[in-house]
Amino acid sequence: MATVLLDGIKKSFGSVDVIHGVSLDIAQGEFVALVGPSGCGKSTLLRMIAGLEDPTAGAISIGGTVVNDLLPKDRDIAMVFQSYALYPHMTVRENMSFALELEKRPKPDIDKAVNEASSILGLNDFLDRRPKALSGGQRQRVAMGRAIVRNPEVFLFDEPLSNLDAKLRTVMRKEVKRLHQRLKTTSIYVTHDQTEAMTMADRIVVMNAGRIEQAGTPLQLYNRPENLFVAGFIGAPQ
Ligand code: ADP
Ligand code: MG
Repeated sequence: MATVLLDGIKKSFGSVDVIHGVSLDIAQGEFVALVGPSGCGKSTLLRMIAGLEDPTAGAISIGGTVVNDLLPKDRDIAMVFQSYALYPHMTVRENMSFALELEKRPKPDIDKAVNEASSILGLNDFLDRRPKALSGGQRQRVAMGRAIVRNPEVFLFDEPLSNLDAKLRTVMRKEVKRLHQRLKTTSIYVTHDQTEAMTMADRIVVMNAGRIEQAGTPLQLYNRPENLFVAGFIGAPQ
């Protein structure tokens, strides 16, 4: 587990500035929800932490090490996306073991990691199925399984539940929360759904147009929003 520190992060695409200087300290084991309207820069910020985009300015540290110059594969993170991005021709077991096989981990270690992850996620009975024979919730569990088996220091989630129907979303929210309570992996969870943020996060970071408007516990934001934007966003019905 690790801290994640963002220090003065800026990002421009060509002449367009999309992140205007974001600084944020995330504690070891903390579950932080990053919320804000579509286009405010949530995914871009997450992708910079993952190493999929380079910041235009600023430093990113994971576990006390500046990672700006490290490739994604050398950062101790795992990312879970909205689209599950499972390999259709592989079974659930193969989907979960693939990254570990690329890293040439010993087979017994791979089997142990996959078996542990599938127990945690209730996937034991589905290990030989291919993704097309799974429900949406089961597919998202496999996507999480692929992240868990790597035992990363940090989980990055980008709207992982937004493809699911409302009922399943409620179930999966609880599962992700339980997963965090069990593994205590530092987690940054992007969502545009304030209910998700309010019910899951230790701390919520509200973004707007490439800036942080306010960061605080769900109760702090609810009781003492610092401006109308935060009040509107936290209070707005889904
Ligand atoms: P969010 O995830 O909050 O919806 P994004 O981080 O995806 O927002 O996007 C923030 C802004 O950056 C948007 O205006 C988007 O159009 C722009 N953007 C994101 N990625 C790129 C890119 N690769 N090239 C140009 N503009 C981009
Ligand atoms: Mg996004």
